Amino acid sequence: MKKTNPAIIWFRQDLRINDNQALNAAIKSGMPILPVYVLDDENAGEWQLGMASRCWLIQSLSSLNKSLGGQLRFFKGPADQIIPQLANEVNASGVYWGRCYEPWRIHRDTCIKTTLHKDNIRAKSFNNALLFEPNTILKSDGTPYKVFTPFFRKGCLQTIQQTDLTVKSETLREFDQSRVGGGINALNFSPDSNLKAAVQNKWQPGELGALNRFNRFLENGIQGYKEGRNFPGTDHVSGLSPHLHFGEISIRQVWHTIKNETEADPEDIEHFLSELCWREFSYNLLYHRPEMPRNNLQEKFDKFPWRDNRKDLNKWRLGETGYPIVDAGMRELRQTGYMHNRVRMIVGSFLVKNMLLHWHNGEDWFWDRLFDADLASNSASWQWVAGCGADSMPYFRIFNPITQGRKFDPEGIYIRRHIPELAKIPTEHIHMPWEAETKTNYPTPILDLASTRKRALKALEATRNHPDSS
Ligand code: FAD
Repeated sequence: MKKTNPAIIWFRQDLRINDNQALNAAIKSGMPILPVYVLDDENAGEWQLGMASRCWLIQSLSSLNKSLGGQLRFFKGPADQIIPQLANEVNASGVYWGRCYEPWRIHRDTCIKTTLHKDNIRAKSFNNALLFEPNTILKSDGTPYKVFTPFFRKGCLQTIQQTDLTVKSETLREFDQSRVGGGINALNFSPDSNLKAAVQNKWQPGELGALNRFNRFLENGIQGYKEGRNFPGTDHVSGLSPHLHFGEISIRQVWHTIKNETEADPEDIEHFLSELCWREFSYNLLYHRPEMPRNNLQEKFDKFPWRDNRKDLNKWRLGETGYPIVDAGMRELRQTGYMHNRVRMIVGSFLVKNMLLHWHNGEDWFWDRLFDADLASNSASWQWVAGCGADSMPYFRIFNPITQGRKFDPEGIYIRRHIPELAKIPTEHIHMPWEAETKTNYPTPILDLASTRKRALKALEATRNHPDSS
């Protein structure tokens, strides 16, 4: 007899088959599987997916759909209406999903659970995105960590010893045949053609692409990671961030493999694990301080005298500030949907300190342009750069882009890769091309580093008379 009451597996930021606890539970229920994806711009509000994320997402979903034999059903609209309606329409036995931690999603998903329970439909959510639930790593007094190192050492490293990270997956057998939802075109967006080309040149969205990239990193990147990760011209970072953001590879699998199955130097391994925990730390901050994407975590920065200058902002966005390492980073972002971490810190410091423009400007631009745009990591990192976050770089530490360039891209390999106008500039002038005799159409600097540094330090004084200044 044909089975009814399908188990709905609602894919969200866990676009994979392997080690997907929600999918495993749906399969184990013994009912036919009904896999769905809902693009919910309504509830996302100002945090609707940016242009780059949409471009990545559509390709990642195509890949997932292939793995599911073309059975994934697509919906567009408010998930708090679509999911309960669908569950009732198909007489679902249950709805299964991986938890997300953006404040708007926590609110929405809680409402969905309540509605489904009222309708007597099982609603079960699982941790598919993080190593630890954000409310589980706490200090001994039960409060959340505000400083990274103890969070990593006392919190993560100790807890992980009691955590089973074995990678699991159940075999997909039977799909539900209800004719609900649409094909991928129901999502109704066509990716920007430049970004689409960027994906095709450099990336492979989806589970297979994530695994390929991880294997490449295991072979070529992890050995020497601790030092190498600072040099944007070399290939020592994993490039896993968009894959991790969309859950195309399980964070448990990444941790387990790096910790137990690599022969790299222990210092490289530990450093990489600590970076994975910066991601966890960002999620902890967002969970405990849901206002983080818009409000300074240190209130004394509320009085900071930011400038407002669209023209300068536009030059920063386009990579036309006249400082090569800054411009190379901003152009890398536009050309590839990615920017190396060291350079993210340099362009961030330049924006909020030398240009004195609000960190929200950087946060918003990155949100729109990064393939790995992630509410927790992006907002925590911008607050870190601006000095107003938890365990941040102090505002008075201002990166000098010339010194940073000389230190981390000494030969100008990264700069030349992204700024063709500077390709022929001799190495001795690559960080100060205005001193070279070779003429180029590369812009001259839009600001003076020494005087803008002074201006930034003076602006910092506005934060000094606040009760939380120390
Ligand atoms: P690897 O060095 O290979 O690191 C491995 C993984 O660890 C990354 O994939 C990422 O998941 C995690 N990780 C590494 N560094 C950090 C960090 N500082 N904070 C949080 N997680 C980290 N990362 C995002 O994933 N999304 C963002 O929107 C984002 N915005 C940022 C904005 C600014 C201003 C800055 C300074 C950093 C931002 N980061 C963000 C963090 C970091 O730059 C990227 O995670 C990293 O560059 C991704 O490259 P990778 O995968 O090659 O990193």
